[in-house]
Amino acid sequence: MHQPLTPSGAVLTSFSLVIFPGLEGETRRYRQFCDLPSSRYSLRVRGHGKEPKKMSVEKAYDPSDPSFKFVDRPDEIDPLQDESCRAEMSCGHAVTPGSLTGWCRSLLSQGQFKFTCPALQPDGKKCGAEWSYQEVRRFALLTAEEMDHFEKELARIVAAKFKACPGCKTYVERQALDNLCFRCTICKESGKPTMQFCWQCLRPWKGRAPRSDRCDNDKCSDKVLELLKRCDTMTLSKVPGVGPCPSVRACPKCGIKVEHDKKACKNILCPRCKVEFCFVCLKLKKKCCETSSSYTACSSGIAPRQTAIPTWN
Ligand SMILES: [Zn+2]
Ligand SMILES: [Zn+2]
Ligand SMILES: [Zn+2]
Ligand SMILES: [Zn+2]
Ligand SMILES: [Zn+2]
Repeated sequence: MHQPLTPSGAVLTSFSLVIFPGLEGETRRYRQFCDLPSSRYSLRVRGHGKEPKKMSVEKAYDPSDPSFKFVDRPDEIDPLQDESCRAEMSCGHAVTPGSLTGWCRSLLSQGQFKFTCPALQPDGKKCGAEWSYQEVRRFALLTAEEMDHFEKELARIVAAKFKACPGCKTYVERQALDNLCFRCTICKESGKPTMQFCWQCLRPWKGRAPRSDRCDNDKCSDKVLELLKRCDTMTLSKVPGVGPCPSVRACPKCGIKVEHDKKACKNILCPRCKVEFCFVCLKLKKKCCETSSSYTACSSGIAPRQTAIPTWN
């Protein structure tokens, strides 16, 4: 077993293996690194855009459940939550299942795989304590559907960030999710050809860098990018005068691949990050609708096929 290392060479002293139930085969097991400095992950402050709506998922604790410690203080994630029962998390802050679900969902949609407490301390600083997924799952009263979403997102985020270097087998963390060219400091020390390897095809890097789509090795390609380039076109029957438009798009905010059911208006709700965007011009719905309606052609026309997949943030 090799010591896990960060690209900067700092040793991660401890990590635990987390098993997420409900995932299949290989994807059942993920290492969750426990001691990455949390300061590396920026947390967005609440009250931005649509979040208040997301915060108010209606769920409530059973006040007779002895496995929770209930408190009289208001919800410390979202003080505007209703009067329902508040329970105390391991860090000592009070939450309701709705506010906790909403907060953790918003972290995932920003590509954060650590659940940290956003409650403010008396000194005005954020608590920042890290909750395990198991704790979140229990206190947020996650439904089967939510658990499925959380576990798939966690798996995807971890897979996008961590890989074993093909040269030295060290677990390495990628900081720039938009660059496939990865420099391994361990392989560099021993002069291995994998000192620069391709995060996608795991071969020594070939060609110019940085690049987000592929390297110059034979058959190095991103399947989603290929699909974006080669998918069929379609027309939207309810939006006259628009088309042909590529039938597959990548969400402009989080990059997940999205298809349009061709039935309703041109706007679509991203199943992952919940942003609403226009399938035709790829602007956010709010922006597109400043100059056209949901059922008329966009002022900027049809956006060409995407050649790069947007990454979070
Ligand atoms: Zn806390
Ligand atoms: Zn290496
Ligand atoms: Zn490659
Ligand atoms: Zn999205
Ligand atoms: Zn549009």
